[in-house]
Amino acid sequence: MYDFAIIGAGLGGLQCAYILAKEGHKVVVLEKNHQLGGSLQVFSRDKTVFDTGVHYIGGLDEGQNLNRYFRYFGLMDKIKLRKMDERAFDRVHFGDGDEYYNHAQGYDLFIEEIVRQFPKEREAVTKYCEKVRAVCDRFPLYNLEVTEPDYFSDSLLELSAYEYINSLSTDKVFCSVLAGTNALYAGVQDKTPFYIHALVVNTYIESSYRLVDGGSQIAKHMARSIHAMGGEIRKRAEVIGADVAGGEIKALKLADGELIEAKNYISNAHPVTTFNLVGPEHFKKAYRNRIMSLENTISSFTLHLSFKEKSFPYLDYNVYHYDKMDVWGGMNYTEKSWPGCYMLSCPANSKTPDYADGLSVMAYMHYDEMKPWIQSYNTVARPEGRIDSYENFKQAKSEVLLDAIEKSVFPGIKDSVKGVYASTPLTFRDYIGSPDGNMYGVLNDHKSFLKTFINPKTKVPNLYLTGQNIGVHGILGVTVSSLITCFEFIDRDKLMKDIKES
Ligand SMILES: Cc1cc2nc3c(=O)[nH]c(=O)nc-3n(C[C@H](O)[C@H](O)[C@H](O)COP(=O)(O)OP(=O)(O)OC[C@H]3O[C@@H](n4cnc5c(N)ncnc54)[C@H](O)[C@@H]3O)c2cc1C
Repeated sequence: MYDFAIIGAGLGGLQCAYILAKEGHKVVVLEKNHQLGGSLQVFSRDKTVFDTGVHYIGGLDEGQNLNRYFRYFGLMDKIKLRKMDERAFDRVHFGDGDEYYNHAQGYDLFIEEIVRQFPKEREAVTKYCEKVRAVCDRFPLYNLEVTEPDYFSDSLLELSAYEYINSLSTDKVFCSVLAGTNALYAGVQDKTPFYIHALVVNTYIESSYRLVDGGSQIAKHMARSIHAMGGEIRKRAEVIGADVAGGEIKALKLADGELIEAKNYISNAHPVTTFNLVGPEHFKKAYRNRIMSLENTISSFTLHLSFKEKSFPYLDYNVYHYDKMDVWGGMNYTEKSWPGCYMLSCPANSKTPDYADGLSVMAYMHYDEMKPWIQSYNTVARPEGRIDSYENFKQAKSEVLLDAIEKSVFPGIKDSVKGVYASTPLTFRDYIGSPDGNMYGVLNDHKSFLKTFINPKTKVPNLYLTGQNIGVHGILGVTVSSLITCFEFIDRDKLMKDIKES
């Protein structure tokens, strides 16, 4: 019998397995896909490696938080990284104009660059940066501290990102630029709390890097370390149910009929997926209703372009484009106005560092648009295919998005394009196993924090949750969530001491 069976080899599942195996526990990770990593998975077309869910990561400079966590996970000397443009790693663009508004790395440079673009806003941007940092300081694990968090004393969790940022100045462009990387957290005007904005943007302002040849290297190195410590990882091992007796899970059922027995179970899957696997009837009604009614973040349609050799320069920055000066309205698109906003990012490749071999473009898309095909399923591990009308939909949307990029951001880009590929909310749903292909898990709401707060401990005594849904999404957010889950089993002071000494 295992000490721990972990459902899902996303970053959260792998990190929990690593921590628990390192502490001497017998762990097994059960992953339904052929490839490990969840949103860290990559795929290749025309010899170009495309990321599916991680385009850049922050906090990796020496001494910064993710750098120190990644040292503990044995990653810092193994992963291949490329730093992004220090003065302008994110560029916000409106309409068809030539002007780009830059976000720079390092708070001093960030302020300097914003003031260069908005000379009257020094005070406002300084106040904004102080607030972002003050909010981050209130989340101890983001600073590798284990003191009890103090969220509740001054309604920190109730501060709205939209309202706070728009209170800083009457200059709409300035406020839109500060919130211009909204797609990083799929911000919703009347819901997204400021702390989500702060925790996410802070990590990139500290430092921003791309993973050269894709994010899957994180999963690959983590898996090797887990194996070396005696842990097991099973691919194509889809969990389809659980044997529950006396209120506890006795075993997980795999799609091939095998039963996996463990003392404790940790799920890296979305909480709703987890509840459906275990059987919703095993959870108390009020708790079950709350979890089952959680709203998720929106999904995305992602266009992946491969380029003709050495035809398009490598861009060491991302572009966040908005047709209109409305960075919070991107999800309210119509068929006619779509995409309205999108984010472009070049994968960093080791073969031709000065040239891009591809470009990924993410545009919001609601799961509702998938209605005609929701009964279909398709992954490498379970290829069932989709019907022609779905392929036609993808092609039509790809053309609209490519036309939009050519018109507003990169005139002439079509001349460089070799291949056009796309993923939809169904792709995310099927590969990640989330109910609706959402990008970042559960949507947080500043008006009802407690409703969206998910404890790693569930009401089934030997079932725990981990991953982006129990905290903040993104590589750093998930890392913090993994620790919070493992604190249920390992002394937190000892674990943090080990991390700090790594
Ligand atoms: C389009 C997109 C772009 C993003 N860009 C960035 C970025 O640039 N930087 C950044 O830091 N973050 C980014 N993120 C967010 C980041 O990728 C995620 O927050 C993070 O990877 C989620 O990790 P997780 O541990 O929660 O698990 P997930 O990645 O959600 O993985 C869950 C795992 O569980 C498995 N699973 C589910 N059900 C079962 C089952 N029944 N049996 C077995 N296995 C199962 C799935 O197959 C999957 O492997 C992006 C996300 C998306 C979608």
